[in-house]
Amino acid sequence: MARKFIVGGNWKMNGSKALIKSLVQETLNGASWDTSKIEVVVSPPAVYLDAVRQAAKPEIGVSAQNIYSERSGAYTGEISVDFLKELGVEWTILGHSERREYFKEADEFVGKKTAFAISNGLKVIACIGEKLHEREADQTTAVCFRQLKAIADALTPQQWASVVIAYEPVWAIGTGKVATPEQAQEVHHAIRGWLAENVSAEVAEATRIQYGGSVNEKNCVELAKKPDIDGFLVGGASLKPEFVKIIVAGE
Ligand code: PEP
Repeated sequence: MARKFIVGGNWKMNGSKALIKSLVQETLNGASWDTSKIEVVVSPPAVYLDAVRQAAKPEIGVSAQNIYSERSGAYTGEISVDFLKELGVEWTILGHSERREYFKEADEFVGKKTAFAISNGLKVIACIGEKLHEREADQTTAVCFRQLKAIADALTPQQWASVVIAYEPVWAIGTGKVATPEQAQEVHHAIRGWLAENVSAEVAEATRIQYGGSVNEKNCVELAKKPDIDGFLVGGASLKPEFVKIIVAGE
């Protein structure tokens, strides 16, 4: 079964009204790609979600960068799934390594939020990936499988239809050090194998696995050729017009 290539742009804590105008209204709305083969999702900071949803053409999905695991109440500063749904935002990123690192999000909390988001009708880009010292200690798959298990433990098999896994080696995020296509393919293949063994063959076959970590217009084409790389989660380069070249790498 062909998996539809999916490219996400994670703006992190970057952006402005001016960027929405130049990047979304002018560059992305003005670009074209084969929507039967490629899905595009942009993930601006929460305060810009409404403006981006209104500015972006309908075939561009919009994603939050995080949600909380309660619908409403005394959780100052948090983002509810209901807010997103009211704005027409269909996606959220969860478990990004920056949230795991700086905001101490534990594996189980990421799993809990993933299940909560999906139960409330959102789709999730769930991020996993090892740090440099873990790769050097030959712990890459052990770390990825641990993070994946916490997500899988929280989901029913049917809920996997709403999940995209983003494999993002932490040492490659924002560093300019991209994983080689072979390194990325090896981990993506292992992740798919874990899904086959621990969830089901169908889920393993259908689940899209993005690569993230210093993807740019130069390295995207070779990465996209690998059989288990089903798209990208892009940080820095998603703020620039070159994001369009990364999107069309999926063609
Ligand atoms: C990211 O933010 O998920 C990311 C992969 O960042 P960058 O592309 O800048 O490495």
